[in-house]
Amino acid sequence: MKLHNFNSGPSVLPQTVMEQASQAILDFNGTGLSILEIGHRTTHFQAVLDEAIASVKQLMDLGDDHDVLFLHGGATTQFMQVPMNLLDDQATAAYHINGIWGKKAATEAALFGKVTIVADSADRQNTYIQKEFSIPEAASYLHITSNNTVEGTQWHQFPETSVPLVADMSSDIFCRPANYNRFAFIYAGAQKNMGAAGVNMVVVRKDVLGKVNRRIPTIMDYQKHIAAGSLMNTPPVFAVYVSMLTLRWIIQEGGLPEMEKRNQAKANLLYQTIDSLPLFTPTVAKEDRSLMNAVFFLNDPALEPVFLDECKKEGMIGVKGYRTVGGIRVSMYNALDQSSVEAICSLMQDFARRKG
Ligand SMILES: *Cc1c(COP(=O)(O)O)cnc(C)c1O
Repeated sequence: MKLHNFNSGPSVLPQTVMEQASQAILDFNGTGLSILEIGHRTTHFQAVLDEAIASVKQLMDLGDDHDVLFLHGGATTQFMQVPMNLLDDQATAAYHINGIWGKKAATEAALFGKVTIVADSADRQNTYIQKEFSIPEAASYLHITSNNTVEGTQWHQFPETSVPLVADMSSDIFCRPANYNRFAFIYAGAQKNMGAAGVNMVVVRKDVLGKVNRRIPTIMDYQKHIAAGSLMNTPPVFAVYVSMLTLRWIIQEGGLPEMEKRNQAKANLLYQTIDSLPLFTPTVAKEDRSLMNAVFFLNDPALEPVFLDECKKEGMIGVKGYRTVGGIRVSMYNALDQSSVEAICSLMQDFARRKG
């Protein structure tokens, strides 16, 4: 049976990436060595890192002001590493919160300085993105979560700010074109839309660094990582390699405009299906619906386990909503084929006919 991988992360990757990564475990580029046993300071790995960095710059159309880093850990590491490097004890950072990840980021920032919550959509169960808000003029930065993986909302137009804009893009990185040069700082754990778990991609505009007075541990210091070219210590070699392959795949498929076209087609189909069937209840504000994670409910909660059971029988993986939200969550990352969305939509239609 063909499996349809709707996992929220780690999640679906392109088949060719998996095949190339498997081959590289046995023999990396004809070296006779596995990617798992080559040195990180060899020309072989340097070429991988160089291509990964160049691909990020190409896809995001970044100028020379921005550096690209591949660092250890998940996005959760960035929740503390960002304020450690960017927020002084007595200074204030602005956080715009639309769900659990933004909330966690703000909690970590408060360990390092003052935090002003400029918006929090918890008043409506995080089902929308608040667009009316003001940022303290002296704020060191504004932090947003571009896509709320758990709640199913996404920024479709990034806010205008006079302060540096920082974004957690873990779950929608490389899903669409945008003016990425506007951002002072972007980070993403790789395991949702660009690779394997264990590595973070960081895009940083150099001028925001070096302004805090605290002492920063070497491994946490972005400036030192830039100086070392992401090779301060042993990087997660295999995870960086899988990211490089995924970035190469995105470029070969047509880059971010093509990713957006596919993502829009998949999301349109799914949301249209939800909207056309009264058995399914969407809760997210239409204008804020995520291209990546669709969250919805069944109008009769007793039918939810029944629907989930049918999904399982049809080989549809990972559609149970997040534990604090409940309901259904269908994740549709770049590598998810349109045919998988078609499959779950026809199951939804069939289910509605039988139970509606
Ligand atoms: C998954 C996720 C995280 C947490 O990532 P880890 O790599 O597990 O630390 C943070 N932010 C967003 C938006 C996410 O989707």
